[in-house]
Amino acid sequence: MNHDDFCIGIQPVGEIEPGVLKIIASSFIGELRLKSLIHPPLDHPEYAFDKRRIQYDAGSIITRLEAIEFKGSDKTIALVDADLFIPVFSFVLGEARIGGKCALVSTFRLQKNPGRSVKVALHEFGHLMHLVHCQDNSCVMKFSKNIEQLDSNSGIFCKYCLDQIKYQVSQNKKAGNHCG
Ligand SMILES: [Zn+2]
Ligand SMILES: [Zn+2]
Repeated sequence: MNHDDFCIGIQPVGEIEPGVLKIIASSFIGELRLKSLIHPPLDHPEYAFDKRRIQYDAGSIITRLEAIEFKGSDKTIALVDADLFIPVFSFVLGEARIGGKCALVSTFRLQKNPGRSVKVALHEFGHLMHLVHCQDNSCVMKFSKNIEQLDSNSGIFCKYCLDQIKYQVSQNKKAGNHCG
């Protein structure tokens, strides 16, 4: 894939180790030949803290992030070191809306394992590119409900999912969104 003007923003929300940000940024080049840039950090999302669950509401963080204009990024992957939930799950490792602008990845349960963060980031990016969950067990778009399932995943897109991403990137290009 060689789409020079498509750019993925990596957005730390609160404190995230710079090494992890760099590994995720380079994984998009390695896996998809897509450029990325690292944005300056945003504040820790105290507004999303749920006192009853002692967790952070992923949906409310994404809503805030989607309202931000990330200069130079066509899609944005935000990283936060906080335990996330959505109403139907006790926790989530990441969250994204299909075709959305901004996805969220939590490093909280990944035990400082950058390889796991990369898998979750690629998976959520797939959702931003309109992909739904894949039935291919080795594909990174397969749903992982826990760390064990994440660890058994290859972290690579199957041919079908990869073709879909290529198609979506080319559509994005036609729409005239350029990485500045
Ligand atoms: Zn998913
Ligand atoms: Zn797939």
